[in-house]
Amino acid sequence: MDTGVRRYIDEHAGEFFAALKQWLTIPSISADPDRAADVRRSAGWLADYLRQTGFPTADVWETGGTEHPGLPAVFAHWPAADPAAPTVLVYGHHDVQPVEPLDEWDSPPFEPAERAGLLLARGASDDKGQVLFHALGLRAWLATHGAPDHGAPGHGAPDHGAGDAPPVSVKLIVEGEEESGSPHFAELLRRERDRLACDVIVVSDTSMWAADVPSMCTGMRGMITAQIDVYGPEHDLHSGSFGGAVPNPLHVLAGLLAGLHDGDGRVMLPGFYDKVAELTPAERDLFTRLPFDEKSWLATAGNSGAASGEAGYTTIERIWARPTAEINGMWGGHTGPGIKTIIPREAHAKLSFRLVADQDPADVPRQLRAFITEHGSPGVDVRVTVNEPGVRPSSAPIDSAAVMAGRRAMERAFGREVLFTREGGSGPEADLTNILGAPLVFIAVGLDEDRIHAPNERVDMGLLRKGAETAAYLLDELAGLGRPAVA
Ligand SMILES: [Zn+2]
Repeated sequence: MDTGVRRYIDEHAGEFFAALKQWLTIPSISADPDRAADVRRSAGWLADYLRQTGFPTADVWETGGTEHPGLPAVFAHWPAADPAAPTVLVYGHHDVQPVEPLDEWDSPPFEPAERAGLLLARGASDDKGQVLFHALGLRAWLATHGAPDHGAPGHGAPDHGAGDAPPVSVKLIVEGEEESGSPHFAELLRRERDRLACDVIVVSDTSMWAADVPSMCTGMRGMITAQIDVYGPEHDLHSGSFGGAVPNPLHVLAGLLAGLHDGDGRVMLPGFYDKVAELTPAERDLFTRLPFDEKSWLATAGNSGAASGEAGYTTIERIWARPTAEINGMWGGHTGPGIKTIIPREAHAKLSFRLVADQDPADVPRQLRAFITEHGSPGVDVRVTVNEPGVRPSSAPIDSAAVMAGRRAMERAFGREVLFTREGGSGPEADLTNILGAPLVFIAVGLDEDRIHAPNERVDMGLLRKGAETAAYLLDELAGLGRPAVA
């Protein structure tokens, strides 16, 4: 059965990559208002392709309203033959990042080029290639499970007519504004909650550890940002006439910022760690099996001189599984040439907090204000502005039925053990699980060296084929779980 899926994918790889290249010629840059028509064209292309693939439903969904028009998403649905079979919803996006600086591309970003097993184009890895492999995987499953002599694949795929419907209901939601911060996505999920109803959500928009170390992401950090403004005297003061006798807003701000962490690198906002889901020993153990070299990692960290962070955690644990408070910028007083001996009237800082499961960004404003009150600063006015709502963290626990099913599918495709990673960055994934009420599984075959968001974005064509294979086996694995087991 497995070799049948692989053979089908090998035999149809030519057609698949020809289609993908066609899609990649459409410059669907969501951040560029001049490209809105191209994003629309990209959505239309995908809906057409999915209909040709056999999806009975493949629609372009508009987002936003008349006041704030958005860019379209694509929804597709192929119901299972068995109405009691679980429903899987695949998430990805069809918009891409801007391409500047253009002169750093070896070939034009929207003229896909093949080189030594790599496909180069903007969007090849993030995320068009990873969206499209699901269609190939589904076709491969249908082709190898249609004839009765291929044997019964498990639950949910009755012997009769299994060839024209998948063993689980397959839905796709492919967003057109992910690279612009998904401004209308949560609203779209709420509006279409019924048509998007599902038992499990598969996200194909992340990466693996390495081509020879297949892995699954099990969570992404959330984020919320804030600004602190400290106001003192009505105007700058002469530091000789007043220095030492009134509070200096920059000193006050420096004190507050210095107090954000204790000596062990822990964030000092009251209650900040209350909801943090601690890593399990099993997960920490699995992390240690990833080939991680701190020296070369430090090189990728802009040649940072040393690793540093919360005591008691490794570097990858700090990035993936621990929350942070970072100062992104601070300013105030005299920064021009020469000297100006003043007590400045005001001081400012911008902060960002990365959050992990099960923290809630909505708790941070209260915690930050409590922290400022605790550090009482008489004689100055400290104002806090938090940019709500922020982004919620997402998680896919390694012992959940859905993640274990995804891991088995990936192990069948790669023929080796699949490890776990997480993502330090933030995305709209938490909205999916919170609004639709289904668990997440991250199935992706991108690599860090794919240069997503940078010139010369590429994808390993062999890995996209492995992705398609994984998608095909995943259908079996999820069908085998049945509905209550998935949920
Ligand atoms: Zn992406």
